[in-house]
Amino acid sequence: MLPERLRRVVELFAMLPGVGEKTAQRFALFFAGEAAGFAEELGHELAALASHVRPCERCGSLADVSDGQAVCAICRDNRRDPRLLCIVHRIQDLLAIERSGAMRGRYFVLGRLLSPLDGIGPDQLPLTRLFERIREDGVTEVILATPPSVDGEATALLLARELAAQSLRLTRIASGVPHGGDLEFADQVTLGRAIDGRRSMG
Ligand SMILES: [Zn+2]
Repeated sequence: MLPERLRRVVELFAMLPGVGEKTAQRFALFFAGEAAGFAEELGHELAALASHVRPCERCGSLADVSDGQAVCAICRDNRRDPRLLCIVHRIQDLLAIERSGAMRGRYFVLGRLLSPLDGIGPDQLPLTRLFERIREDGVTEVILATPPSVDGEATALLLARELAAQSLRLTRIASGVPHGGDLEFADQVTLGRAIDGRRSMG
């Protein structure tokens, strides 16, 4: 029913996380209709994104590399305590914790969680980079803020085990974020309390 080119656009939109067939179709029709100027701007910005925004070399969040920086704004912020390191699964989780205002340290983004069923073992986690970071920054406390899901808890346990030999305080965010829940969708107050009420893991 739809022109071939438009069908392709629907297919591409449907590849986006959380976008189903119907939404993809609605987006495509929107761009094919009144929003031609917007389509051009969006296309331009998306194409330019990769050359301006890259993963931060230190934490795995995103850095604006247009001005030659390879390190993100949080890692460059001297008012933050480099000895306090919060480990999160995804950048969305970092952003959610930032919104809570409860974190005065810095972050490390794992990018993935331990997930034996999906074939993701300890070797697929950026542990070497994490240890380097802990050593270089003289980290004294690591907050494990992986989500309270099966994979998130397994990852926290693995990290606790791997870091046990180092002389640092290991803490886990407090419950309050519902089990299996997504940090991204927890409200700021709950997330702030989860950070403030973190407990030692041994
Ligand atoms: Zn960074």
